Amino acid sequence: MPFFSSCRVCGCTEYNACVDTKGRSCYWVADALCSHCAQVDPSDPHPELPVLALSIRQPWLWAIMHLGKNVENRTWPTRYRGRICLHAARGMTLKEFDHALDLIDQIRPLGEVGTIARRDDCTWSIRHERRGGIVATARLKWCISHHDSPWFFGPYGFELEDIQPVSFVEVKGSRGLFDWRRNLVSC
Ligand SMILES: [Zn+2]
Ligand SMILES: [Zn+2]
Repeated sequence: MPFFSSCRVCGCTEYNACVDTKGRSCYWVADALCSHCAQVDPSDPHPELPVLALSIRQPWLWAIMHLGKNVENRTWPTRYRGRICLHAARGMTLKEFDHALDLIDQIRPLGEVGTIARRDDCTWSIRHERRGGIVATARLKWCISHHDSPWFFGPYGFELEDIQPVSFVEVKGSRGLFDWRRNLVSC
């Protein structure tokens, strides 16, 4: 395998292998296909999407996709490293939503974000995003318990990079890093 090869699904490389939830690194199973991505059935309608997903509530997912929020906080750690799907959780209570938006506003004042001038516009925009499905993929780079990022609240932070929006796939959310293909909502 040439040293510059990278997995055609997750983009992992010889020097930046993905690591599963048990801490095992991937290996090459074919040209440009790593063992973690090879578990996906070729008849899968979304073969390009990573195996595991993380469900994130709004407005936090919106902050990841639009405000440069690079850390997602959890009460549990993970050993997984590599690409994951970002799932927009269905649940969103008004109170939690408003509280989260206050926090976001402190970290990244909403009036300064692109063309979204006011908090009301921002709220409107988030409320009209689709929920209850996969909306993006990202690379989970580290799981850390200390971080300089203003988005780190702990106790554990999953540092995310290379966020790529994808077309919506309706999936039921689960706890932890979950195999979303078992939760597909069939029409
Ligand atoms: Zn891969
Ligand atoms: Zn890999």
